[in-house]
Amino acid sequence: MNFSSNINCPPYETADGFLQTTQGCSHNHCLFCTYFKDQKFRKSSIEEIESDIKEIPYYFGAPKRIFLQGADGFAADYDVLMKTAELIHKYVSSVQSIGGYARIDNFYDKTVDQLKNMAAAGYKNLYIGVESGDDTVLKKINKGYTAAQAREQLEKIDASGLPYIVNFLNGAGGHKYGSTNARLTAKLYDRLHMTMVNTSMLTVVPGTPLYRAMEKGLYVESTETEKLEEMYELVRCLTNETIFMNEHASNLFHVKCRIPEEKDELLSFIQKFIEGNDEKKLRQYREYITRAF
Ligand code: SF4
Repeated sequence: MNFSSNINCPPYETADGFLQTTQGCSHNHCLFCTYFKDQKFRKSSIEEIESDIKEIPYYFGAPKRIFLQGADGFAADYDVLMKTAELIHKYVSSVQSIGGYARIDNFYDKTVDQLKNMAAAGYKNLYIGVESGDDTVLKKINKGYTAAQAREQLEKIDASGLPYIVNFLNGAGGHKYGSTNARLTAKLYDRLHMTMVNTSMLTVVPGTPLYRAMEKGLYVESTETEKLEEMYELVRCLTNETIFMNEHASNLFHVKCRIPEEKDELLSFIQKFIEGNDEKKLRQYREYITRAF
């Protein structure tokens, strides 16, 4: 099978089979990112994809879920994604759903009807790297779209019924910017129907453009306590019926809670966590995890 990089999938994902539809990242300019830097973006041809699909049973047995590979496998064209789903069901009948990472701009060229067709074809719970609902923050990290553009695409996906997950990058706004970022992100999410809000905490890794900006004094990192306060504010402001999850290793603790049912309990937990930990101790974890990237 063709894999141009290591398997790229959240550790808590249930996918048990993988398939490359794109190589590298269609954007590749987020300032905090450490992935895919040595790869040129390319869309796989349907011939390559079909040949890989035929090999799935050999490499992955009878998977229930396939996670598309490439930084944003949904940058593939609609026709290719539909043909991919058709071929997956033809050659790997065990597959019940297909997920993967996506960027907001992967949906610019897909209509509501096309997204509806994708849902019917088995696409489900794509992880969309929204990261923030604040234009200042999106610009600071060079995410490549605005909050209004994100809202427009998320509303379109909602209208199609295609289930999706939003990723939030806790701390991306930097020092003293967490509360604003949290409030504007909750505002972006308001009245949307994501399956889950999946958060990770920003780790500024040496070698990234964001790290170099920090060295020059152009970007000031959030403290760990500020990140926790930002998380508290995001949860407090969330109006959605969804799941809040922060099981990524970059987080200082891990929970998976239903909102609004467990919102008060979660807020109280975050508050106690802030009170029970000092910055120095939390920072040690960030330094430890930085070495893992
Ligand atoms: S879209 Fe994802 S993989 Fe691409 S540069 Fe941004 S964070 Fe990295």
